[in-house]
Amino acid sequence: MSLLIKNAFLDGKTVDIFIKNGKFEEIFPHLDISQTDEILDAKGMGIFPAFYNTHCHSGMSALKGLGDGKGLFDWLNEEIFPREAKLTPEDIYNASRLSILEMIKTGTVFFADMYFSPEETIKAVEEMGVRAFISFVQFDLFDKEETKRRKKQALEFILKENPCPDRILKGVSCHAVYTVSEDLFKWTADFAKEKGFYVHIHANETQKEVKDCLEKYGKRPIEMLYKWGILTPKTLLAHCVHLNDTEMDIMAETGAFSATCPCSNMKLGSGFYPYLKMKEKNILQTIGTDGVSSNNNLNMLEEMKFTSLMAKGRAYDASVATASEVFKMATENGAKSFGFKAGKIKEGYLADFMLVDLNHYSMKPGYDLVSNLVYSASSEAIQTVACQGKILMKDRVVDSEDEILAKAEYLFNKLKDI
Ligand SMILES: [Zn+2]
Repeated sequence: MSLLIKNAFLDGKTVDIFIKNGKFEEIFPHLDISQTDEILDAKGMGIFPAFYNTHCHSGMSALKGLGDGKGLFDWLNEEIFPREAKLTPEDIYNASRLSILEMIKTGTVFFADMYFSPEETIKAVEEMGVRAFISFVQFDLFDKEETKRRKKQALEFILKENPCPDRILKGVSCHAVYTVSEDLFKWTADFAKEKGFYVHIHANETQKEVKDCLEKYGKRPIEMLYKWGILTPKTLLAHCVHLNDTEMDIMAETGAFSATCPCSNMKLGSGFYPYLKMKEKNILQTIGTDGVSSNNNLNMLEEMKFTSLMAKGRAYDASVATASEVFKMATENGAKSFGFKAGKIKEGYLADFMLVDLNHYSMKPGYDLVSNLVYSASSEAIQTVACQGKILMKDRVVDSEDEILAKAEYLFNKLKDI
């Protein structure tokens, strides 16, 4: 499979780009290649790396718009958990497809997911052509029988054949310290080391989580995760809002990386992520949207802008979290954190990219295109999106969009009166 892109604007120059076997093979001002499967004229378009969203619950798109104005715990207990109990595997498949549709439309080709029925999300990812980290979720609520059951299910999930290993990473999530027992954390830590997979955890999202953890264990969440041996360079800690210096030092020492989710944190009134201190501690920082039901979209353009603005506001310093820094978090850092050589338009890198209409009103004038992408771009300017060299959206058209939207309407009708 090969693709020749003609006349794309990259780093101030117009170039041709040849993509072969999913990677950028050659980038040069003029390429004369006759043997290619497809040619795409990108005149008037800028080429940029596509986004890597490192914290998501794709099956939650069925629950968008519920419980506005509630904090995390009331929102979960009153709005989300009762409805999640009614979701069938097929509902989760359809909700995942709706999320993936939104991600493709807004320039994202990778997401790190944490949700029930992960096999359904795997099916949706495989069919729609994106890349993902899909995890089995540990959530035992300190019930010993449930702990046993979860261990068995996690084992089965990991051992089951991966239908698409070049685009899908499988792993395990431990939901949070307030929903997962010490036994299950320790077991997952050992299992992850044995099999070499990534682990995804909600950490230090709210003040209540930290306070409850201190009362229960006498230590803070990240200190407990360290004690249980689950922090490694393959551990993704989502949120990381309320961290002290010791916890940041632990992250730096173990190589565990963060996914900030500013929209969700602000919408649920959870607080502000400590971007500057994390940077000073050299912690690998990435960006996630969280589930669409607490955001309420999966648009990484917005998430980059909020990451930057929140960091500037928190530091009382406009020079903090520049556009290029947060763009790197949303592309190169996200890819690097999961071991993908992607996030740059460069020979030898995975061809995960988007073509952006530079004549769109939101990209004009073009003094600094990365600044435009972070602070002013509309997702409508993103015309084409590709993952591993395969085009998933062309001229803003994604296959099967109408069918996905029809299923979303069915989910709304099913869940609205619960
Ligand atoms: Zn989350």
